[in-house]
Amino acid sequence: MPRIVLRHCPACYTDNTAAKRLPLGPKKWPLKTCGACGFTYLERAAPYVEMEETFAWEKTSQQETARRVAAEPTVSRVSDALKTFRARTLRRDKLTELTNRHVRGDGTVVDIGCAHGRFLKTLAGRFPLAGVEISRALAAKAAKNLPGATIIQADAVSGLGQLPPDSAAAVIMSAFLEHEIEPRLLLAATLRALRPGGVAIVKVPNFGSLNRRFRKKKWCGFRFPDHVNYFTPRTIVAMARTSGFEIREFRLRDHPPISDNLWIVLAKPTHPLPVTTTPQPCSQDLPPDP
Ligand SMILES: [Zn+2]
Repeated sequence: MPRIVLRHCPACYTDNTAAKRLPLGPKKWPLKTCGACGFTYLERAAPYVEMEETFAWEKTSQQETARRVAAEPTVSRVSDALKTFRARTLRRDKLTELTNRHVRGDGTVVDIGCAHGRFLKTLAGRFPLAGVEISRALAAKAAKNLPGATIIQADAVSGLGQLPPDSAAAVIMSAFLEHEIEPRLLLAATLRALRPGGVAIVKVPNFGSLNRRFRKKKWCGFRFPDHVNYFTPRTIVAMARTSGFEIREFRLRDHPPISDNLWIVLAKPTHPLPVTTTPQPCSQDLPPDP
């Protein structure tokens, strides 16, 4: 029987269970916009152990691809071609470009959800490298691809907790934070692991994008139940600032409304800023269905 957790708002911890769900996804995975702070999130989610065993990315992404092809063959084919182009050129360039511009010194670069270690491999020889990956199969591949790197097979929060404090020059979260059941705990763990002046480079789907408004239910950023947080430019900035980060870079070209994704570079301040929302878990276990 899969375990399911119930989440309060991951941004401000308000209980929205009595509020209506948004008509944008399956009933089984209710999507809510917090009445208090406006953050959009999945109220029920699968905990880490389920993500690893049942919903691990390499499995669900194949199922999702098959479902989209069956539902909308033409759109899916064009979208695949565009995505392949973007994945091969634009996306990698953007992550590389932000890394080159913002990562300084000889601290460790940590990739959260490092998969096979493909991105880390592009940095080999330039920085000490570390990867956190929940899937056993992918973590084993990353360790093989990256001899000398520290590969930690764990969920993101406890994986980052295994690194020494103030040791990382950068934490990469490219297409990761939307999956994290406890995003505030992950930001707190990131702040701890970073050295002062170190950066977190974050890419998430942009729930405020034009395409999301236009495509409604069919927007490519919806993945049930893998994507549990739906950030907009406003809500990602709010969560980062109240977690104690400075915003290092967030220009319009990092979150153009025509893109399905947004990028933001956060920095650990050299003089700590007050954390105005104390991090605590937003999820609790639900009893299994009878
Ligand atoms: Zn809220």
